Amino acid sequence: MSNVPLIDPFDRQISYLRVSVTDRCDLRCVYCMAEDMTFLPKADVLSLEELDRLCSAFVGLGVRKLRLTGGEPLVRKNILWLIRQLGRHLESGALDELTLTSNGTQLAKYTDELAAAGVRRINVSLDTLDPTKFAAITRWGKLDQVLDGLAAAKRAGLAVKINTVALKGINDDEFDRMLTWCGECGFDLTFIEVMPMGEIGEQRIDQYLPLSMVRAKLAERWTLTDSDHRTGGPARYVEVAETGQRLGFITPLTHNFCESCNRVRLTCTGTLYMCLGQNDDADLRSALRSNGDGGALEQAIREAITRKPKGHDFVIDRRHNQPAVGRHMSVTGG
Ligand code: SAM
Ligand code: SF4
Repeated sequence: MSNVPLIDPFDRQISYLRVSVTDRCDLRCVYCMAEDMTFLPKADVLSLEELDRLCSAFVGLGVRKLRLTGGEPLVRKNILWLIRQLGRHLESGALDELTLTSNGTQLAKYTDELAAAGVRRINVSLDTLDPTKFAAITRWGKLDQVLDGLAAAKRAGLAVKINTVALKGINDDEFDRMLTWCGECGFDLTFIEVMPMGEIGEQRIDQYLPLSMVRAKLAERWTLTDSDHRTGGPARYVEVAETGQRLGFITPLTHNFCESCNRVRLTCTGTLYMCLGQNDDADLRSALRSNGDGGALEQAIREAITRKPKGHDFVIDRRHNQPAVGRHMSVTGG
């Protein structure tokens, strides 16, 4: 593989790959999935060996950070095998970070092995601290399972960031409490605006809460100071003086963040999406499965990067109440 970095047409270097290792999940969050989802046939899903080869090809082309997501990454059978395999790139120094986004339900079971494989940080999605609301948002989840997972992660020394989707009329009375709780637990917190992805059987406009409003409300009670902290991603951060923790805002709707985008997204079938909010994709599975020395795969990846668009087209208002892209977040993993 040539060591020429992956640079897109807007001069952004692609150094971050997010991989949805399965589209399946043990929950059905109301903003993410419809209740009755049709998942991909297992035969279409890449094997763990194939996912390892694909991820490793990206690492060979200069990707420094890998995030496994889904669906729920920890429900994929033998996922720890893949995580351990990818851990070799941490040991060799080719990779700076191997991490996961998880709903936390399986975390208690896996946290020690994740830490042993080189995972140092994890993002856990949690939209409420109220067990009844949690069951309603996830359609059947048990909050205690996630809290046990978080406690285990803390014991194992993993740094935790909580991701909370701001949902109008559902969890908007809990943001102060979430901030206090994260401060007590030593977790960072990021609020996310709901994005119009996939049919979910509800109107997006009924869920959508602009984070500009959330921030203004929080600022009445907390001392928020803009922070220079950047991850090359969409979040903008503030420091919360009272808790000493960092608070992030991911605002695709109220503030377009695409100019610094350093990432692309791979699905479990080997389809590469160059932008979360656009439909254009590249099939890497055929190149992966073609015989040869990996040249076809490198060529397919480089060609895909030449098609990375400038930005997404997400809009939610009364006139735009349809999904901007047809696929659900669980396909590309957020
Ligand atoms: N199952 C894992 C989890 O929940 O963390 C990983 C996959 S999930 C699709 C990744 C992130 O996307 C979660 O933080 C979830 O809250 C967020 N998410 C899902 N659908 C979304 C939507 N329509 N708009 C904004 N965020 C969404
Ligand atoms: Fe599953 Fe995560 Fe989607 Fe919730 S947000 S349904 S946990 S994939």
